[in-house]
Amino acid sequence: MLVRLMYASRAATTLDHEALGAILRHSRTANPELGITGVLCFSHGIFLQVLEGGRSAVNRLYNRIATDARHSQVELLSYEEIEERRFSSWSMGQADMARLNPALLLRYSETGQLDPFTVSGKVSMALFAEIVATASVACQP
Ligand code: FAD
Repeated sequence: MLVRLMYASRAATTLDHEALGAILRHSRTANPELGITGVLCFSHGIFLQVLEGGRSAVNRLYNRIATDARHSQVELLSYEEIEERRFSSWSMGQADMARLNPALLLRYSETGQLDPFTVSGKVSMALFAEIVATASVACQP
């Protein structure tokens, strides 16, 4: 059975390109073995990540990620059983937020900044789908 999980969190410290790259490299090595796919967005110190895959695999990975000291305030935004994956092309894609049209964020938020802590999980998922559709998603860090 497939599930899709989305959470948000705040980076524990200022995260440089190398530190973000280390997370993505590890994810891209480990996720295929677990049958996990997804996309990670990082903007202004906030992570937004979607994980898709088998229920047990996603649950176990989420519990591991939630205890990672590189971020805090890990908040589950959405969890659903799904018939098919939406982000199957990426073992862990990275949305290039620099290429995002700012008007898109403004459409879904009060400030025009990515802030999943202030909107519903449904809104975050809709925004996430549009980010993936309009920003380029990289497969390599
Ligand atoms: P270990 O490798 O034993 O690490 C234990 C702890 O050490 C980690 O929780 C972390 O706090 C710290 N740590 C580990 N590596 C580093 C490092 N390079 N720099 C600094 N501290 C470190 N893992 C996946 O497999 N798939 C994912 O999709 C995924 N997404 C992630 C998204 C985010 C935003 C973050 C912060 C982490 C993500 N991780 C992901 C990494 C995950 O949290 C675990 O670190 C990883 O799965 C290894 O688990 P482990 O129990 O073997 O931990």
